[in-house]
Amino acid sequence: MEAAMTKALCAACVDAAGNVLTGSYRAGCRECEARAVAHGPAWFAAEKVNPAGLKDVPEIYRLALHKVFGTDLEQWRQRVKHWAERIKEAKAIKRNA
Ligand SMILES: [Zn+2]
Repeated sequence: MEAAMTKALCAACVDAAGNVLTGSYRAGCRECEARAVAHGPAWFAAEKVNPAGLKDVPEIYRLALHKVFGTDLEQWRQRVKHWAERIKEAKAIKRNA
């Protein structure tokens, strides 16, 4: 599993490891927050631009990252992207099932 950013997975992250489309999140868990951002409208705006780096992201997305994570925005941008890719794959699989 690619949970290298966290020392221990919370229960909701364990759920998400099995099913990324799970609706469970745990308040205060940064991986859950990254996953929540990946499900949200700010990511939707960012994905359309396909930014190469933090300096290229749409303002709405930069603000969302800043509000949720505060610091280490590039690191968390990568985590949100990771979750967004997994969510996209899972939705494609579901559609084709
Ligand atoms: Zn979590």
